[in-house]
Amino acid sequence: MRRHGHALPRAPGEPELESRLDEAQARYRALVERLPVVIYTSAMDVQGSFTYISPQVEGLLGFKPEDWLADPGFWLKRLHPDDRRRIFPALVRAHRGGEAFAAEYRLLDRAGRARWVRDESQAVRGRAGKPLLIQGAWSDITARKELERETADLRRELASSKAELEEFVSVASHELSSPLRRIMGLGETLASRCRGRLDEESESMLARVIDSAALVQELLRGLVRYAEQGRAGIESSEVDMGAVLDQALKQLDEAVAASGAVITREELPKVWAEPALLGRVLFNLLDNALKFRGKDPPRVHVRAERSGPDWVVSVRDNGIGIHPLQARRIFSIFDRQDPGAARSGVGLGLAVCRKIVERLGGRIWVESDPGEGSVFRFTVPAPPGEGAA
Ligand code: ADP
Repeated sequence: MRRHGHALPRAPGEPELESRLDEAQARYRALVERLPVVIYTSAMDVQGSFTYISPQVEGLLGFKPEDWLADPGFWLKRLHPDDRRRIFPALVRAHRGGEAFAAEYRLLDRAGRARWVRDESQAVRGRAGKPLLIQGAWSDITARKELERETADLRRELASSKAELEEFVSVASHELSSPLRRIMGLGETLASRCRGRLDEESESMLARVIDSAALVQELLRGLVRYAEQGRAGIESSEVDMGAVLDQALKQLDEAVAASGAVITREELPKVWAEPALLGRVLFNLLDNALKFRGKDPPRVHVRAERSGPDWVVSVRDNGIGIHPLQARRIFSIFDRQDPGAARSGVGLGLAVCRKIVERLGGRIWVESDPGEGSVFRFTVPAPPGEGAA
């Protein structure tokens, strides 16, 4: 009986038609077999047995097309056991419902190694709309998946070693502070008892012991503060930056008076931050602007400009400036330009600033010409709901 409907209008015995068909098929194959993907067609049965699979499959999985065509259960056997429950029912459901199917899963190659593929397939329908076969393609996404996995592993490792490090810093600094307090206490007692009885050199040595212990104590305090920044949750709210700046300036009264500094500001906006944290950033930046002054009395200017959803806050000074090569490093822990100099602290101020700014959702950087002063800038979000100005 002749078949009607969507059967190909093939008439055996008509050589011209046959050769045109052969030619069309050859053209189709030449195209398909040059693509960097594996193209296949499969029957509409549950197993999805292949009726065609392009030869690229051998490069991907090590099996020849004949292997896939000979065994109707081949795909299911090569499907990674951990992906079977996720993929097989989804595939059957999609094809039964006449929907397109797209998924990423693993197939086992000849050596039993998992290769990741992205499979996209769809039923091809005849004229009457009846699905005739499935046509699909696999692309090799193993490299991308491996990269994704490595990145996720690295992120996890980084997060856990960061947490461990912070815990360690916090515990170690607490443990070290009490013997240190004793060293300082004993040193000071010894110094006052022996006053006038020691020669000049011994007295200066004793003073240096006490100074060094005080420096270590300051370092430890800074470390604890630094470690603590990473741990407590942030509770941002709408904050008036002008008021926060006033608070920070109050703590700097003496330093401002002693240096003859002039601190000016423009109108400052409301931002989305935690007041104490924002205050610490401003305090540290202003403190540095006074510390790293040039010959002239410090002039410091604070302003804020809107940039999309954020405010960019700048603290400009006329101090000694920073060499461009140093500009990134100074935000790292313990980096300071001149550790021996009297004005240098312990190199934690900017590391704390960076940590806080990043936790508040911003970034911090510096622009400077050595000798011309520096501009420290950081971004801080505008309160939510406030459209970009
Ligand atoms: P500290 O002030 O404790 O040395 P910081 O982390 O605050 O540490 O600063 C790191 C280094 O960056 C400083 O030692 C200094 O060399 C440089 N620096 C910071 N602020 C300024 C500034 N306003 N002008 C010039 N140099 C600065």
